[in-house]
Amino acid sequence: MDLLKQRILSEGRALNDHVLLVDCFLNHQVDVKLMKAVGAEFARRFRDDGITRVATIESSGIAPAAMTALEMDLPLVILKKSVSSILKDGIIQTEVFSFTKNMPYQLTLKSQFVDPGDRVLLVDDFLANGEAAFGGIRLLEQAGAKVVGVGAVIAKSFQPGMGKLRAAGYRVEALAAVSRLGEGVIEFED
Ligand code: 5GP
Repeated sequence: MDLLKQRILSEGRALNDHVLLVDCFLNHQVDVKLMKAVGAEFARRFRDDGITRVATIESSGIAPAAMTALEMDLPLVILKKSVSSILKDGIIQTEVFSFTKNMPYQLTLKSQFVDPGDRVLLVDDFLANGEAAFGGIRLLEQAGAKVVGVGAVIAKSFQPGMGKLRAAGYRVEALAAVSRLGEGVIEFED
């Protein structure tokens, strides 16, 4: 997706050789027009796959996933990273190791928000080691859904997540696949 790649090149910053900062349009300030285009692109790529629900992981996945769900006219379910005291009944959880916080957390889903037989598209902002995506897949499958695809706004293809997901049989669509990061360097796959 050229528009997204241009924004990454003009506004993104490689913090080091494995972390990309795009908080000016995706992770802190959100360019909703760009997210609308992201949603339209995911909808186009998955339009023939009989998707019945979009899922994401809070919080940075919400904007692109909401736009995708809107474009596909589907419900959106947000997998939570913390459990509030009002979220008790019918919850399922799995441990995920956080890439950014470098510690584990309990990814949580209230199973009533996924129907058995749902065909789910899981959208997230970044795909790195695949921890978050595999955690989401575990919860959605435990709730009886089939994960038809994983949509990453940005996938860092030099980290193992994308390869692991594909090796496990999941379709992964990345709108920008970053192949290398370094000081002043952001490169994409062809
Ligand atoms: P994974 O679980 O695939 O290792 O990492 C995915 C999660 O970590 C994403 O939900 C995202 O929030 C965060 N993340 C991974 N890599 C980056 C990065 O380079 N930049 C930012 N801003 N977040 C990242």
